Amino acid sequence: MQWDPWTGCYKISDGCTNCYYYGPYSKRCGQNEVLKTKDFYKPVETVYMPRKKITKYKMESGKTVNTCFTTDFFLPEADEWRIEAWDIIKRRPDLNFFFITKRIDRFKVSLPNDWGEGYDNVTIGCTVENQELADYRLPLFLSYPIKHRIIVCGPILGEINLTPYLQGIEHVSTSGETGRDARVCDYNWILDIREQCIKAGVPFQFRSTGSLFRKDDVLYKINPKMQHRTAKEIDINISY
Ligand code: SF4
Repeated sequence: MQWDPWTGCYKISDGCTNCYYYGPYSKRCGQNEVLKTKDFYKPVETVYMPRKKITKYKMESGKTVNTCFTTDFFLPEADEWRIEAWDIIKRRPDLNFFFITKRIDRFKVSLPNDWGEGYDNVTIGCTVENQELADYRLPLFLSYPIKHRIIVCGPILGEINLTPYLQGIEHVSTSGETGRDARVCDYNWILDIREQCIKAGVPFQFRSTGSLFRKDDVLYKINPKMQHRTAKEIDINISY
């Protein structure tokens, strides 16, 4: 289930260079203006069932809602709208809202007054594509009151030591970059993060090889349709 209360985005760091949505060869290239969408109220939209004579939410209870997957929840242009978006999230405690951000340093802007230690129904993924950004974003990420947090190394652009930041993390996900100009994803970087996760007892996932995948010193060009499947077939995920 997907919810995009706004659309449009622009580069904030190196991992955005070949963004799947706004990169140079993508469909939305140039759509950098951030606009509210017609789906803004989607999680609280209802439908009347005449036979049962009941009104129910269109979004079925118990689901995960991938939120802002085509934009960033913490964009400054959305500060004003985010207050209402938080309110919509609060009104649906039966849904799990999941978003991934490259702007975790803006987490506190427009945070609701009753946030406290975090809403139970919100999971935030902090994206880090290299060591420099891990060392900048993750200490901030860990310092904020968030009930459910994961780390997303995607697109992974080099070796990353996550060890100092794995306490309280529910899951680490890794993936390579997709696209015509995709940069290499080295299997050793993935295995290294996997080892760090094993030592810390944190679940780990290798989600996608990306378009250029180096393994055992051989460089493979992987078709977009095969990138998730190939990572899955390598079979190195860990769950507890
Ligand atoms: S923050 Fe995400 S959606 Fe926005 S440009 Fe970067 S990669 Fe694309």
